Amino acid sequence: MESSGYDRVVGITSGAPRRRRDADRELSEELKRAHEATDARLAAEKTDELAPPADDGSVRSRGEFADSAPEDELPGGMAVLMVNERPTFDNEPGFVLKGQCCALCGPLETAEPYEGPPLELGDLMTENGQLSAEIQEVMQYWSESMAELIIWLYRCKGRHPSNFRLVIWDNTGYHIPWELFWLKDPPEQDPGWLGALLTVTRWLTPRDERQGRDYWRAYRCEGPVAAYVDEGMDAHLDLLAALFDRVRRSPSMTQLADYLDVPQPDPLSLVYVACEGRFDDEAVGSGLGDLPLASASRFRRLRKPAQTLIFLNAAYSGAVGISRRRFRHPAVQRGFAHAFLQNGAVGVLAISARVEPGDTYRLADDLLAYLKKHRDKPVADALRELRYEAWRASRCEPEHALVPSEAAGQQPGDQGIPALYRFMYVYYGSPFTVLAIPGGS
Ligand SMILES: [Zn+2]
Repeated sequence: MESSGYDRVVGITSGAPRRRRDADRELSEELKRAHEATDARLAAEKTDELAPPADDGSVRSRGEFADSAPEDELPGGMAVLMVNERPTFDNEPGFVLKGQCCALCGPLETAEPYEGPPLELGDLMTENGQLSAEIQEVMQYWSESMAELIIWLYRCKGRHPSNFRLVIWDNTGYHIPWELFWLKDPPEQDPGWLGALLTVTRWLTPRDERQGRDYWRAYRCEGPVAAYVDEGMDAHLDLLAALFDRVRRSPSMTQLADYLDVPQPDPLSLVYVACEGRFDDEAVGSGLGDLPLASASRFRRLRKPAQTLIFLNAAYSGAVGISRRRFRHPAVQRGFAHAFLQNGAVGVLAISARVEPGDTYRLADDLLAYLKKHRDKPVADALRELRYEAWRASRCEPEHALVPSEAAGQQPGDQGIPALYRFMYVYYGSPFTVLAIPGGS
């Protein structure tokens, strides 16, 4: 629609027999008027009026999720980006993209497969257990090849400047750190990291949709907290006790899982876990504290009508993978984020890699304080703002860096926790989920 208007303006002007300077002035005025007319039309169409619906107990079937474009039902400003596996022409791991926002933003559909990023989960760590600074360079280099995606994202962001939210539905199992996708600068736009510039959430294809919740609805998590905090990490528990009226501590992760499997009339606002975590694609080596992933199958207390947020503040708790060795047709990814979403959690905040225990406390402290101060702000929006804040405050060299550069004479730790760690926190579920902290302003 917009392009036809542009063609019309150019056609009129180029046919006018005027001196070049007058013609240039007229062209720019015509273009300005055309832009104003487009802006007025967009305003009139009120594309952002569709608010997220509250939970009414209904859920769409998996078939509808997978096969149809939900653009006519998505809340204003929400886009879904599906990432599906397709080998490259060299038979290397690759993927294609399919994006939907509103009719005005138009769809994204790539035909030729892109290569998966040249990094594995293990590559994120150096020998001394720190995050590798190479990640940011690898991700920048890899992202720049995806011009179609970058253009589409800026187009959506331009249409919905105040409320654009991107749901990334990655079915590949490649562990792509999408929050570290590099949005290279188109004219008049600032370049930056996707997870700092845009609100990004993740979604996963459900194995069984009966207990799962919709990712486009508004949820509000209110009530007591259930927690498992490992020995030596009591500061996490003190933090919760200072913010919430009722906090129930389980002595082990297995006992917390048992507690979550007993239906109760009073819903939990938050399940909080701070402990050691481990992960491998074959699922058998994945666990949280003493709970193996295989035992994280049923949490009836999270089911409707409860609206509960899960915060897994543990290494690799947000990693999801596909067991390619054991299953010939690996349809579903496995991981704790999947297990909790499947059981009815309305949001899962977890860590995709390894973060030092001291830093996990700092992030929880910052995030919960921020949510208390900014009441009614969705968790996903708060996470984006905290990433942006940390990146801009880090004063790393060069400007885009998320970790201090030894080449620039900076030492790790000069600026506190490297901002990069905040991009290791990934959020699954509805971007509209709000955690109500008592006494918030
Ligand atoms: Zn749109």
